[in-house]
Amino acid sequence: RPGLVLVATPIGNLGDISPRALAALKNADAVLCEDSRVTGGLLARQGIAATMIPLHEHNEAAQAPKLVERMIAGEGFALVSDAGTPLVSDPGFRLVRAAIAAGVTVSAVPGPNAAVTALALSGLPPHPFLFLGFLPAKAGPRSAEIARLRGIERAGLSATLVFYEAPHRLGEALTAMAGGFGADRPAAVARELTKRFEEVRRGTLGDLAAHYATAEARGEICVVVGPAPEEAAAGPEDLDAALRAALSTGM
Ligand code: SAM
Repeated sequence: RPGLVLVATPIGNLGDISPRALAALKNADAVLCEDSRVTGGLLARQGIAATMIPLHEHNEAAQAPKLVERMIAGEGFALVSDAGTPLVSDPGFRLVRAAIAAGVTVSAVPGPNAAVTALALSGLPPHPFLFLGFLPAKAGPRSAEIARLRGIERAGLSATLVFYEAPHRLGEALTAMAGGFGADRPAAVARELTKRFEEVRRGTLGDLAAHYATAEARGEICVVVGPAPEEAAAGPEDLDAALRAALSTGM
C-alpha cells in the first residue's frame, strides 16, 4: 500500500539492515533522505537504484505539503535518516504530522536506535526512561537545562535519563551533569554501538567525568544517567514516625 513508510537503518553495523527495510527501500517511488551522499552509499551497497529526495531540517517545512500532495495522488515514499530511526533527533516529524492530517497511510519498519540500545546495555533501570536527545552545546544553557531537569526530578520524577552527546563535548557535559545531578549518580557512556570499537563504560557521573576530563572521546556517544534517588519527603506521616521513634528511644 502506498503512503509513507518510516524505515530505520543501521547506526554503524551494516548487518543491522533488515529484509523489510530493504524491501521498503526497493519498493518506494522515492527515498526521502537527510543526506543523499549517506543514503546513496547505503542504497549502492545494497544494489538498490532508487530516486532520492532530500528532506532535512532546512527544507522539511516547505517540502512536507508537496510530498503529501504526491502521496495523496498515489506515490509511496520511504523516509530514512542518516542512521537509526527517523524522527529520533532527526527530521521527519513535520512530514509525519502532515501525512496523518491528510489521511495518508503511515507505517514503519522498526530497527536500530542508539538511545534504546544504550539504555539496554547501560545496566541501569530501563523503566521508566526519559529520552532527552542532545543537551545545549554551550555551557550556560546546558547547565540551565540540567538544573531544569533536576527541578523536575525534585518534583517527583524518578526515571533513567538518556542523552546524545558529541565526542568533543563529552568531558564538559559529564562534568556539568555530575555538578547538577550529583557526582554519585550511577551512569554509563555508550560509544560506537554496533561498531568495531563498541564500548560501554559504567560508573558514577563523578567517575565518568574524571575519566573523560583527560581521555579523548571518539566516535558516537550516548550518555545514560540512572534515576534520581527517592527524596525523603517530610510529610506529616514521616514526621509522626520520626516523633514516635524519637519518643521510644527516650529522646
Ligand atoms: N536517529 C538516530 C537513532 O535512531 O539513534 C539518532 C540520530 S542523532 C542525529 C545522532 C546521535 O545519536 C549521535 O551524535 C550519537 O549521540 C547517537 N548515536 C548514533 N549512532 C550511535 C552509535 N553507533 N553509538 C552511540 N551513539 C550513537
